[in-house]
Amino acid sequence: MDRHRVAGTGSVEWARLVREVEGCTRCPLSRTRTHTVVYRGGATPSILFIGEAPGRDEDRQGVPFVGRAGTRLDRAIDAVGLRTDEFGIVNLLKCRPPANRFDRRAAATCRPYLDRQIDLLGPERLVTLGSHALHALDPTAPPITVAAGAPRTALGRPLFPLLHPAAVAHAPRYRERWTSDVTRLGEWLSVPLAQTL
Ligand code: URA
Repeated sequence: MDRHRVAGTGSVEWARLVREVEGCTRCPLSRTRTHTVVYRGGATPSILFIGEAPGRDEDRQGVPFVGRAGTRLDRAIDAVGLRTDEFGIVNLLKCRPPANRFDRRAAATCRPYLDRQIDLLGPERLVTLGSHALHALDPTAPPITVAAGAPRTALGRPLFPLLHPAAVAHAPRYRERWTSDVTRLGEWLSVPLAQTL
């Protein structure tokens, strides 16, 4: 990745992307959304967290991970010591699926937006949240309960899969796993980039 060519959220290309997403009607989710949900984070983040889809709170506010799952994610981000300008958060889907049921067809339609976000933000490392995000980026990855906590590579970038923070909230048995995976994430972030590829 060439950091000199990173456009970031201040670029004309990013503004164009945001406008396109806001006006997007490529799939049925556009009919039920309140707001599109594009991004929260620094202008040129070195770490990009990738979730699944906006929930009710995100749909209301137009910002990713602002509900309960977001609180858990923010605590993890704090725990690994990332500054606010060092990370960004996106989702595979830019619109909330009704009843929060993940929609694979919509995800395929929406995918070019994610690829453009990654291109424009130019993160050095990716962190996926949950199975859908992991398998969208790396279809060859094992099930999320096997893959979580173990670094891999996808799209030519180092990738660290985490469980989805909402799954951790719903399944207390995942709580210890989440804590130990977040500790590993912190260790992985402290390893120089060249050693992670
Ligand atoms: N879950 C997600 O995957 N993304 C959000 O933005 C909120 C909850």
